[in-house]
Amino acid sequence: MAKTLQSIRGMHDILPEQSAAWQYLESTVRQLLARYSYREIRTPIVEVTELFKRAVGEVTDIVEKEMYTFEDRNGESLSLRPEGTASCVRAGIEHGLFYNQQQRIWYTGPMFRHERPQKGRYRQFHQVGVETFGIAGPDIDAELIAISARLWQELGLKNVRLELNSLGTPTSRAIYREKLIEYFSAHLDVLDEEAKQRLHSNPLRILDTKHPATRLIADAAPSLHDYLDPESKQHFEQLCSMLEAMGIQYVINPRLVRGLDYYTRTVFEWITEELGAQGTICAGGRYDGLVSQMGGQETPACGFAMGMERLLELMQVQEQALSATAPDLYLVLAGEQASSAGIVLAEKLRTELPKLKLQVNAGGGSIKTQMKRADKAGARYALILGEQELAAGTIGFKPMQDATANQVSLKLTELGQYLASQLN
Ligand code: ATP
Ligand code: MG
Repeated sequence: MAKTLQSIRGMHDILPEQSAAWQYLESTVRQLLARYSYREIRTPIVEVTELFKRAVGEVTDIVEKEMYTFEDRNGESLSLRPEGTASCVRAGIEHGLFYNQQQRIWYTGPMFRHERPQKGRYRQFHQVGVETFGIAGPDIDAELIAISARLWQELGLKNVRLELNSLGTPTSRAIYREKLIEYFSAHLDVLDEEAKQRLHSNPLRILDTKHPATRLIADAAPSLHDYLDPESKQHFEQLCSMLEAMGIQYVINPRLVRGLDYYTRTVFEWITEELGAQGTICAGGRYDGLVSQMGGQETPACGFAMGMERLLELMQVQEQALSATAPDLYLVLAGEQASSAGIVLAEKLRTELPKLKLQVNAGGGSIKTQMKRADKAGARYALILGEQELAAGTIGFKPMQDATANQVSLKLTELGQYLASQLN
């Protein structure tokens, strides 16, 4: 027999049993973003490697060791996108989207990074990213954070903590950078190899090290906050008070620096303790310098990206996934006559109740078998139609998630109305 093939390590199929949760998440995000007047952008999955080198930065984990880079048949170096911001910026400049305008956009799709696969960390994973261009004030930082906060609420997610920091301007950061180099240089003997390599190229990255010994040194390092320029300080304070006014709780974390080079001023992460080591479900911040660095005109920008796999895992841990995607009703059909009547009834209900999620039993089976299927599908209610009910013009209605609830008999003519009230 021929050897069977498998998907690439760290790249996963989304199976039919999982896709309902994905679609639920995607449509919740899409509807929410429409309510805030954000519009979708779709860019190619492959770009010239140069784009990511310039946008993400040469001295980042992504560009140094995580990109899927290859030569195409013309010998040009291309890469699978490891993130979405670079393409948004490229497309915005290319199509003049930033010229004297504000833009609120979002994207979704697969991203590719050659990392060590583990729970919550894959080589193909999916993000939804939200980006704004042409808006300099903290009001848009606050709006972006409010969008994410509302999303967790709509998804029923709890216990996610917002961590916030400001990285200041390139000028204030440059001063801080020198201080950091000075500080870490005094502890060279303790630093790990990676930190030593980063000392002069990207010393801020040492602050979010996971290496235990370096961690201790980093914890005692001078704080960026003491070096913030007055405008950045004000921007940050305004953002904080807007969040407070909206009732969004946050924790200021002066060690939060983010992995990418392009951030200025606001950076934030949403973190949960319920997913183990890969607890960041959403991360973002302001990147005022990127558009001009990529050849466009000066354009302030702010955005975030969330990891869909991690969100779905959290929904599962908090048991929000099944209830969100399961059918409202499972229609049990006993006997041949009921089978053909059932499919007609189902169509009628779908017309009457456009939001109803209804699964009709197909392929026969005893009532017991069908009830098991209803249970497996996670249905809230079962409708039971047999010969007797057909003759009497009634139907059985049974709550599935309450063991103490009894089956009731309803008139078929009143079924639509009754369901509308039960399903709110
Ligand atoms: P991490 O510190 O976990 O590596 P990151 O800083 O590299 O994250 P970003 O580039 O900011 O992550 O991406 C935004 C979000 O995308 C992350 O917060 C996370 O939820 C998700 N994400 C990033 N890399 C992966 C991956 N390899 N697999 C699954 N999700 C990921
Ligand atoms: Mg990473």
